[in-house]
Amino acid sequence: MPATLAQFVELCERLAGTGSKLQKRALMAEYLHALPVPEAGLAALYLAGAPFAETDGRELKVGGALLSRVIAQLSGASQPAMLAAYLRHGDLGGAARDLLEVRSTVPTLTLPDVADAFETIAGAAKPAAKQQITLGLLQSATPLEAKYLIKIILGDMRTGIKVSLVEEAIAAAYSAAIAEVRNARMLNGNLPEVLELAASGRLGEARMKLFHPLGFMLASPVETVEEALQRFSNEVAEEAKSAPPETRQDGPAVKDALLKEAQLEDKYDGIRAQIHCGSPEQPGRVALFSRSREDMTVSFPEIVEAFAGFDNPLVLDGEILAWSRGNEGVPDGSRAVADHALPFASLQARVGRKRVTAEMREDTPVVFMAFDLLYANGEMIMEKPLHERRRALEELVQREQPRTRVGSRLSSMASGQQTELHFGEVAAADSFARLVLAPAVQLQSVEQLEQAYVDARARGNEGVMLKARHSIYQPGRRGLAWLKLKRELATLDVVVTAAEYGQGRRAGWLSDYTFAVRDGDGLRNVGKAYSGVTDAEIARLTQFFLEHTLEDFGSVRTVEPLVVFEVAFNNVMRSDRHDSGFALRFPRILRIRDDKPAEEIDTLERVAEIYESQLDKVV
Ligand code: AMP
Repeated sequence: MPATLAQFVELCERLAGTGSKLQKRALMAEYLHALPVPEAGLAALYLAGAPFAETDGRELKVGGALLSRVIAQLSGASQPAMLAAYLRHGDLGGAARDLLEVRSTVPTLTLPDVADAFETIAGAAKPAAKQQITLGLLQSATPLEAKYLIKIILGDMRTGIKVSLVEEAIAAAYSAAIAEVRNARMLNGNLPEVLELAASGRLGEARMKLFHPLGFMLASPVETVEEALQRFSNEVAEEAKSAPPETRQDGPAVKDALLKEAQLEDKYDGIRAQIHCGSPEQPGRVALFSRSREDMTVSFPEIVEAFAGFDNPLVLDGEILAWSRGNEGVPDGSRAVADHALPFASLQARVGRKRVTAEMREDTPVVFMAFDLLYANGEMIMEKPLHERRRALEELVQREQPRTRVGSRLSSMASGQQTELHFGEVAAADSFARLVLAPAVQLQSVEQLEQAYVDARARGNEGVMLKARHSIYQPGRRGLAWLKLKRELATLDVVVTAAEYGQGRRAGWLSDYTFAVRDGDGLRNVGKAYSGVTDAEIARLTQFFLEHTLEDFGSVRTVEPLVVFEVAFNNVMRSDRHDSGFALRFPRILRIRDDKPAEEIDTLERVAEIYESQLDKVV
């Protein structure tokens, strides 16, 4: 008998009702174990809050606005009733359950029925058709089933289950080693397939599949050079315990030795990207993924062209940068100003572009600045220490860079003259490569770090990165093995939760934004800002928020928490104006972070930390 949705949602309720991770894992394992394998695969996927496997490539493209319309249609609820329900739960799934109680439905849906409906929704081109199919699905669901279907559709289960816990449950259900399950999923990117391998004891057969994003390793922020050194020394001291003997030293030499464990790089202000290419099965295919796991390939055709010729499967980690050639024309070929990255603003026009014109390509040359190598020569090398990955990366760039060269006749962009690029021309002396190796040095002294920071800022980069040379690449982790030292003043990455119509010149535009930081599974507002965005950006945001409104209160709308801002501020105050208990003083929007998913915004803890650090300075 196929797995019923009723049973699945009952499990979800129990999962949401227990705070214990152990218990959650045990409940899931027991449930999965009792199901036939293909259905257990679907269940695992849905438990993780995903309608499709990562390698699948399909998307539902159904958002809160469409779902709200469907719920209103099915329940007949008025706007105020919808709003009240939403406010009670703070999530659409929970609200829908309340609102749909007016209907009585007998549970009949199975997990394969849900999979079929998702497939049809993804296949429907028009929103109206998607809405009709979604309506059909929710019509057959009980209120409780609708609650979880909506959560899966929106990709946020709020049961406290992350994919890593589902991996653990799979391991427990089929008596497999958790490390093997994790490894298999990282390589193959398809949870149902991994479950099938685990169930049949074949996890060892999982192979790396290119063209699905691996998790990105992230860096922890530090505010000052001193803090960077302190944190980094602690991290390295930990790592050094397991490091080769020559790095394990005692006495006064320790600090020096620890310092030298640091690899120093510039922190670039571009778009973090993972590039997959060189598949023998799919020659010429190149994929670029953002750190929010989105496929950005179509937005950067020149990078695709440059990497299409690779015949060795590769996964590189790096940053897409708008590139400026240095001053040319110095007789001996040297340049007074070196090639360098342009600030993020130059790239902004390319973010999310589906069609890239020849003009855009010419106006903004882009390169891929590689700083890590994750997969090469048929081997996953994330588990190797950074210094080994770095060596492999350097060799690779040396060998492969010529393929990525673009013949060019460039006049100096720095002096603002017209740039002419002739793509596909035979490489000339002044050509440039699309693949660039991020310069890195081994740190020698505190003074060098201070100088490096100043130099990086002078080059127009955001700051510096310190990376532990013995650290492995930890996908999806923000650890202390990578530290970022950026602006002198702290900034916060926040998500917009409400938008308000402006006044005067901005009347008619949603130009005032309330924003929040993360607090566990929830969000807490910390401020409201309206300065720092251009008119064009306000127009774009207005359109977006109109389409992603949760509730319309007239002059203010609560919106789906999707748009991430980087905000600067003067200081943090205690305040009861927002539900966080804090308010940012004089917040200003530095930029819209299209590259950052809402899951990765800063936390309430971070706000409290900044608050505390201010106190330290006053005392
Ligand atoms: P943030 O976006 O502020 O959380 O800082 C982390 C980001 O710094 C990464 O996602 C990268 O986009 C970016 N980054 C810039 N330069 C580097 C580098 N050399 N190594 C690693 N990450 C870098």
